[in-house]
Amino acid sequence: MNKQKKCPYCNKIITGRTDKTFCNDRCRNNYYYKINCEKKGFIREINTKLLKNRGILRTVNPYGRVSVPKIYLEELGFDFSCFTGLYKTKKGKEYFIVYDHAFNIDENQRVHLVVFYSDAQTVVSQQHV
Ligand SMILES: [Zn+2]
Repeated sequence: MNKQKKCPYCNKIITGRTDKTFCNDRCRNNYYYKINCEKKGFIREINTKLLKNRGILRTVNPYGRVSVPKIYLEELGFDFSCFTGLYKTKKGKEYFIVYDHAFNIDENQRVHLVVFYSDAQTVVSQQHV
């Protein structure tokens, strides 16, 4: 006796060959297209958060260097879990990078913002001499 399989896209019971996963090619294409769109949506969501973060950093740090309480950035909607990279100075300070901005959080929950240039090696390590 055959178990009745259902099409993962339209949920109809599949008839005909038992090795079929979808009822037809249209359902198969739609199914994979839908998965792909959901992935794109996820990436878009992250990009949106990153751009929002960058916008906040630019607004808070227009002159290239400033320190603010962590809660101040949180109130502006900054998402500390969204960054584009990490950078560790020779002294072991860890900076979170958001595109061309970087920040470091100290033990007093203050955030030190700097502009992160491509030659960051020199720029960031100069901050805490
Ligand atoms: Zn179907």
